[in-house]
Amino acid sequence: MTPFKNITRRQWIFTSMAILFSAGVAFAAICQTCQGSGISSTPCGLCKGTGLYGQMKCPTCKGKRFQNCAVCGGAGKN
Ligand SMILES: [Zn+2]
Ligand SMILES: [Zn+2]
Repeated sequence: MTPFKNITRRQWIFTSMAILFSAGVAFAAICQTCQGSGISSTPCGLCKGTGLYGQMKCPTCKGKRFQNCAVCGGAGKN
């Protein structure tokens, strides 16, 4: 029941909770739909995955053949 013991225990709980919280944030930060790639897993609907729109680079996917992920908007993170 010494104050030192209480502080140490509190700090240990706080530290472990902080680690768990930051680990959870890091896990949630990566978009689960695109796995952090920022591009949708389905081919671009406009160019149908070719990356070309006529003779031009597809304006929707910008020639990447895949549109930006609808969940993260191309950021790769939530
Ligand atoms: Zn396209
Ligand atoms: Zn995404």
